[in-house]
Amino acid sequence: DEGIKYVRNLIQPHANFPSEGILFHDIFPALRDPVALEIILNRMAAVVTKRSAVIDYVVGLDARGFLFAPSIASRLHCGFIPIRKKGKLPGKCHTLESTKEYGADILEVQKAGLEPGARVVVVDDLIATGGTLQTSVSLLKAAGAEVVVCVCLVGLPSLGGIAKAGAPVEALIDLE
Ligand code: IMP
Repeated sequence: DEGIKYVRNLIQPHANFPSEGILFHDIFPALRDPVALEIILNRMAAVVTKRSAVIDYVVGLDARGFLFAPSIASRLHCGFIPIRKKGKLPGKCHTLESTKEYGADILEVQKAGLEPGARVVVVDDLIATGGTLQTSVSLLKAAGAEVVVCVCLVGLPSLGGIAKAGAPVEALIDLE
């Protein structure tokens, strides 16, 4: 697939970032490129429409999921809901703790707007160990939502995260 190959070539590996022993994949060079950005958003939206015609919300994960989720929601004519790190969202929230590739996080989603039975998709930049997606999916299920699919720009299959998520996961690009 030429479009995906084009995007893949723009994602840059950085050894030992943000700490020793971590290979960090920088997606921002791909977002900087208008052609790649359009390919990413169109392909992410297509992953969703292939699964279901009926989606209530696109849920973006703090922080790089926010770069994609509202644009996908706009393409799908549905709303956007953020999952954020603890303490950032006002009002009543559902809360869950997660473990990440580098460190732990407590994630929250506002109760308002997430009515039981809501059909949602979850969007993030990258799935590594799957901890962030697993917690986010659990959080949304606890809120009574149905997670149709999780969409990521990058997957790291060697870390086995996709099996852990608790919902179907599709990554546009697999990296080692
Ligand atoms: P996981 O919870 O181990 O799957 O890690 C995924 C989360 O950590 C996502 O929210 C990513 O934004 C972030 N992350 C982990 N590794 C990378 C990376 O190499 N590049 C960009 N983000 C990363």
